[in-house]
Amino acid sequence: MLKTEFLINVAGYFVAQDPAPILFVQPTQGVAEDFSKERFAPTVEITPQLRDIVEPPRSRHSANTITHKEFPGGSLDFVGANSPTDLASRPKRIILCDEIDKYPLSAGSEGDPLKLAEERASTYHALGRAKFVRTCSPTIKGLSRIGREYAASDQRKLFVSCPHCLHEQTLAWAHVRWDREEGGGHLPHTAAIACEQCGVVWSEREREAALDRLSSASGFGWRQTAQFVCCGQKQSPTFWDEDGRSLCADCGQRSAFDGHAGFHVSKLYSKRHRLSHIVQEFLDAQGDQELLKKWTNTALAELWEPKYSETFDPNGLLARAEPYDGDDLPEAARVITGFCDVQGDRLEVQLIAWGNDEEAWPFQYNIINQDPTQPQAWKELEVLLRSKFTTVTGRMMRIAAFGIDLQGHHTAQVLAFTRARKGRRIFACRGIAGSKPIWPGRASRAKTGEVIYNIGVDTAKDAIYSRLNISPPEPGQGKPGFIHFPVGDNFGAGYFKQLNSERRVLRRRMGQTYVAWEQVEERNEALDTFVGALAMRKSLPRVLSRDLEYSVTHDTVTEEDDRPLPPQDTPAAAEAIQHSSYVAQNSPDRARARELSPNYAKQASFVGNTSGWFRR
Ligand SMILES: [Zn+2]
Ligand SMILES: [Zn+2]
Repeated sequence: MLKTEFLINVAGYFVAQDPAPILFVQPTQGVAEDFSKERFAPTVEITPQLRDIVEPPRSRHSANTITHKEFPGGSLDFVGANSPTDLASRPKRIILCDEIDKYPLSAGSEGDPLKLAEERASTYHALGRAKFVRTCSPTIKGLSRIGREYAASDQRKLFVSCPHCLHEQTLAWAHVRWDREEGGGHLPHTAAIACEQCGVVWSEREREAALDRLSSASGFGWRQTAQFVCCGQKQSPTFWDEDGRSLCADCGQRSAFDGHAGFHVSKLYSKRHRLSHIVQEFLDAQGDQELLKKWTNTALAELWEPKYSETFDPNGLLARAEPYDGDDLPEAARVITGFCDVQGDRLEVQLIAWGNDEEAWPFQYNIINQDPTQPQAWKELEVLLRSKFTTVTGRMMRIAAFGIDLQGHHTAQVLAFTRARKGRRIFACRGIAGSKPIWPGRASRAKTGEVIYNIGVDTAKDAIYSRLNISPPEPGQGKPGFIHFPVGDNFGAGYFKQLNSERRVLRRRMGQTYVAWEQVEERNEALDTFVGALAMRKSLPRVLSRDLEYSVTHDTVTEEDDRPLPPQDTPAAAEAIQHSSYVAQNSPDRARARELSPNYAKQASFVGNTSGWFRR
């Protein structure tokens, strides 16, 4: 949100107007190089004042490289926050830190990269000549670096004047209005801001005109909003001078200011973003905590406050179990995913059916009591993967995406299994802690060249634990994110004990706070496989078309004919998969489907001890 242009302009100013040694920090070395090439270089090229003094890297006598630029009176270095040696280079006067919430907790073992970078300017700082700029979209409340920095600043906000009553106000989501049709459907194209004073709704053109008027407003509309103490009173600013500095309500003097200015701006202030699009994004994110967090952070530039439930009531979940199974899935189920946890002496598999808005029906929990070093274990897994399931009306479904945990035991066997099944959406996965998306969107390549998918396990656990506290929908109704449970031995007290096996805790390292999950029960496979199955759901399109049932085309795949589809980590390939490996299954009539899909429950014995396994 404008911050990149802002940083480039600051850098350009200190190159051309007030030459100085400048350090420009990005989250990683790779990002720093890309930034120099794709953002900074084009700016230099089209700006005569910069073009004349910053030689391009390719010129013959230039000492300049992609990451190091020299110009009369100064230098500019682009470095990564993950590279302690680069951060600890020579003294700098201007420190520009971009995307600071994405910096690692520690650069190598050297500590907070932000501090390391800014220590470069300590000599200049002592002389009052240093400048520090820190920018980012905010992230999670209590963890966000930019949130902490803004809280410590004078908290400037942009005040826009109402075209109807001239009242000056900040643009807030609480003042965004849109109409709904008679049936209750949202009409995002009617989105507009309502004045907090006179209530009159601004047209988009009026909003844009109001923003244009900021260029001639005093202090360009920026005003300090941080609380301060003067005349023995703690005050929230209500008076400002021409520069937007807050004034004491008593003595009229400027509030104390330590030189740390903070600026907050959201997309509501952007002429590049239409209000209707912001509202549409908000509507699209409903029911998905991850999307809602992203929208809050990027559209509103506000901190996200996760609603953590530290735990849930296992007895309550057990008591609300419903009578369904893989042969009698609710009609609302649209797709099936699963995940396999690999233990030293066995495989554990959970299968979950998903409806709209990720309403979930876990319906099968299998233990394959076979040694994973032996082919038999994997043969039994393959039989399970080829199973057919049916809904109450006899609509047939199969597993559309399946993951296998690579982290624990028997890595070689897992990779061999997934490699041979490329293109069937059977993935080798490993869990990644920290603030990561549940599904990575694209594969990582291990040093050995193997294709691996990194699952954001902490994010998934957040999602699952908060969903376990959603109150049940009315009978016959659906509810976004709600998790149903079936009646059955494998979904008894032992299952819920495992599901409830971890707790979210805040930890500190090198002065930084971060979230970690702590295991409080000895066994947690039910949670791990749930996490994996959720990630597999995220690997599929978010919205499942009403007319399509997604399913891997097992019918055309035989044991000898595992034709690999193109690799799945490019957009083009992903599209190819959309078209080639899903088939539309127009609900066949019940009798026909029954014929096609043998009763899974009756043949379940092939996985060995599948009932009452928690009692062992
Ligand atoms: Zn007004
Ligand atoms: Zn005062």
